[in-house]
Parts: sequence; structure tokens; C-alpha cells
Amino acid sequence: MRFPYFATGEVVKGFGRGSKQLGIPTANYPENVVEKLPSGFDNGVYYGWAKVDDGPVHKMVMSIGNNPYYNNEKKTMETYVINDFDQDFYGSNLKTVMLGFIRPMTSFNSIDDLIKAMKKDISDANELLDKPNNSVYKSHNFFKTPQ
Ligand code: ADP
Ligand code: MG
Repeated sequence: MRFPYFATGEVVKGFGRGSKQLGIPTANYPENVVEKLPSGFDNGVYYGWAKVDDGPVHKMVMSIGNNPYYNNEKKTMETYVINDFDQDFYGSNLKTVMLGFIRPMTSFNSIDDLIKAMKKDISDANELLDKPNNSVYKSHNFFKTPQ
């Protein structure tokens, strides 16, 4: 029911949780995009495809969580695009399609455990997206139309 879920919006500045320092930067969607997310998307890690501006479609993992700036009342949608970019792309358009759920949000005892979990998420997403029922979305019309 929930999947596929298509989203598009500008990449905005996050709140500096230091994702980049962990080697896993997350491109944040603005409030207007997050507000459209239907209820039923529990906090956790999801996988799918992503495209920055008119670049190629890449695999991604997206975490849905809560925004500490708003006493956790508001959600966040943060996408790690599985690709090495030469530079940041704040202000760019980011299109995503979420195709499935990987795991619920949990707290970790150490940064090391957190990084390990994120690496596992990325390798899980990598495998899942190669399955035919998920890989078809890489060439979906959604990614062929502007913005
Ligand atoms: P912020 O708190 O501003 O979101 P992050 O440390 O999470 O800061 O870094 C996110 C930014 O890093 C993105 O907005 C984007 O411009 C840049 N970036 C570079 N490579 C990637 C990538 N592979 N996936 C997501 N964002 C990336
Ligand atoms: Mg971020």
C-alpha cells in the first residue's frame, strides 16, 4: 500500500547532526515535502532510487525520523544517495521513490555501532534494489519528467 512512494523537492540545509563527518551525508527535504508524507511511514530506514537535478538515477537509503528543532514534533526525510558526488548539492532538486522498509529507528550505544548499522542498510538496499520488482523503478517515467 505504502510503496512506491514518490517525492520531489529542494535539498535544504539540515541541522548538522554530522552525517557528513560519519561519511554518510544525508540530503534533507524541506517541511513542505515532509508534510505530504502520509501517516503510516514509521520512523526508520527505507530504500529506493534517487535523482539529483538531471543527473543519473542512483540507489538510495532514506531515514525518516524526528526533528529535534521542533521538539521532535515534525518529521524529517533524509536521503543518502549511494554515489560519490564531487560537491554538495544544496538547492538542487531531489527526486526519490521509496520502495520498501529496511528497519525501524533505534538508538545505538556508540558511533561505531551506528556506522556499522548504516553500512548494513546501504548493503541491504544495494541488494534489494537489484531485484527485478525494484530495479524497474530506476527507469520509471517519474525520473524522466522535469522536477
Ligand atoms: P545537513 O545537516 O545540512 O543535511 P549533512 O552532513 O547531512 O548536512 O550533508 C548533507 C549534504 O551533503 C547534502 O545536502 C548534499 O548537498 C551533500 N551530499 C554530498 N554527497 C551526498 C550523498 N551521496 N548523499 C546525500 N547528500 C550528499
Ligand atoms: Mg542531512
